[in-house]
Amino acid sequence: MTRLFNDPDDFAAEMTTGLAAASARWLRAVPGGVVRSTEADGPTVSLVVGGGSGHYPAFAGLVGPGLAHGAAMGNLFASPSTQQIHSVAAAADRGRGVLMSYGNYAGDVLNFDAAQARLRDAGVDCRTVVVTDDVSSAADPALRRGIAGDLCVFKVAGAACEAGHDLDGVERVARLANERTRSLGVAFDGCTLPGAGSPLFTVPDGRMAVGLGIHGEPGIDETDVPTAAGLAELLVRGLLAERPAGAGDRVVPILNGLGSVKYEELYVVYGAVHRLLGEAGLTVVDPEVGEFCTSFDMAGASLTLLWLDDAPGELERLWTAPCDTPAFRRGAVAGHHGTTAAPQDTAAGAPAAVLEGSPGSRACGARVAAAFDAVAAVLDAEADRLGRLDRVAGDGDHGIGMQRGGRAAREAAADAAARGAGAGTVLRHAADAWGDRAGGTSGAIWAALLDALGTALGDTGTPDTAAVAAAVRAAERAVAAAGGAAVGDKTMVDALVPFATVLDERVGAGEDLPVAWADAADAAGRAAEDTARLTARLGRARAHGERSVGTPDPGAVSFALVVRTAGEHLC
Ligand code: ADP
Ligand code: MG
Repeated sequence: MTRLFNDPDDFAAEMTTGLAAASARWLRAVPGGVVRSTEADGPTVSLVVGGGSGHYPAFAGLVGPGLAHGAAMGNLFASPSTQQIHSVAAAADRGRGVLMSYGNYAGDVLNFDAAQARLRDAGVDCRTVVVTDDVSSAADPALRRGIAGDLCVFKVAGAACEAGHDLDGVERVARLANERTRSLGVAFDGCTLPGAGSPLFTVPDGRMAVGLGIHGEPGIDETDVPTAAGLAELLVRGLLAERPAGAGDRVVPILNGLGSVKYEELYVVYGAVHRLLGEAGLTVVDPEVGEFCTSFDMAGASLTLLWLDDAPGELERLWTAPCDTPAFRRGAVAGHHGTTAAPQDTAAGAPAAVLEGSPGSRACGARVAAAFDAVAAVLDAEADRLGRLDRVAGDGDHGIGMQRGGRAAREAAADAAARGAGAGTVLRHAADAWGDRAGGTSGAIWAALLDALGTALGDTGTPDTAAVAAAVRAAERAVAAAGGAAVGDKTMVDALVPFATVLDERVGAGEDLPVAWADAADAAGRAAEDTARLTARLGRARAHGERSVGTPDPGAVSFALVVRTAGEHLC
């Protein structure tokens, strides 16, 4: 159980406040996460890491000299929003470019990519290296997710920043570190999020899930719980079979506890790991045993190997270089001083100015705000059902994500409309608020969708029926561009495409908007139900493949709900 919390909704924010108060000599809170509270003597490339909260010391505990410059911190197990990542990266930037690095999860990729695009638009050179160390998560190394091997990539990249490498150089060694990092994990029991009545997942008594992910993603095998030596053998054997090309005979082992395995137990396992690596002819370099990437109170452990070269070389130098962060320290880092500089004014500044729309567009903006009001109410009422649908093959957070997004959009839309905004601005403000508060994959997708709608409708003239149909087409393209999903992948795209197509057809045939919209919403509803027969191929549900057959896609179902409800107020 997670026993200590106040309002569970506030858990991530209150945890950040406490962490910043306790760790002021390394970091300070900024909107969206934390950045260093120290300055290097000269400008360097900045390393920005991040992901959902609940994995301490990943990610905020790894901010400090020699390691990360900032960590974007999402809600519990949910990707940080684009705004959060952008805010942290802007505050961490020291003028020589930004490297972003994080585990390869769909929601994180969407949001970090969008934040990267914004930084590039503002002239900041920004690159990304995703961590893909978990060998059990996919056969293709590029599709694998990141777990405790995050530390290897972050540490090597952070040391390269510290050593004065330019962005090309930091990116190159981070990529090399990722190619040389492999992990395998096991779990004996699940974890319980603050306030939740039951664990997110469970493992049968006396059994061990092999390859289970840090959010409860299913493993590749289940066995009886072995002895400590038996576990060491399973982990070492599994990783030796995945030796990366070009690796030498020197390895860094990292034995990671996932939350409720004792250090003493880990050391018993590590003794056998160390012996087995030696017997395999490998030289162990600078091992680590402890908690580096946890999963709340999950009972489990993972072994990571960072494969170095035959002789001590670049990777080894960067791995062993000094660093000083709340959770990971070695040696003494020179050339840093505390700073009293106020955090940069980023995302959470004053509300964005509103340009007044034309009278026709303002009237439309008021209808859009009314539609968001109704949508938020429906999402409140349906949050439980959507969460249950997402639990079948995903992680169960779709209901609360949509609820948070809908509520934030309602507030932003009402505020913009009250200040005289046209339809375009109302929608774009709602998009920003939705993306920022919802988090997750669907948060980023809805932000892209609403933003494209708003951009297409604009703030002048009175949008006519054809303009609305064209704007929905633009939103469809934006969703495809952001998430890369096509019809049949079992995502909200399966409902969005029929919606846009039918709307276009009906409008083209001369139907009035209310009738055309209602027909299109019906088509979206039928298509959403039809996704039950599909296997998820994208997003978090991908790994659960077949499990989703028989259950409709939660994102497609919520899309149909939203358009049906919105239509009753828009038209
Ligand atoms: P997360 O998957 O990060 O937990 P949610 O649970 O809020 O986010 O949303 C899950 C929904 O997101 C899925 O049901 C699916 O409809 C949608 N989704 C996932 N990946 C994509 C994508 N690439 N493009 C469009 N929609 C997607
Ligand atoms: Mg989800």
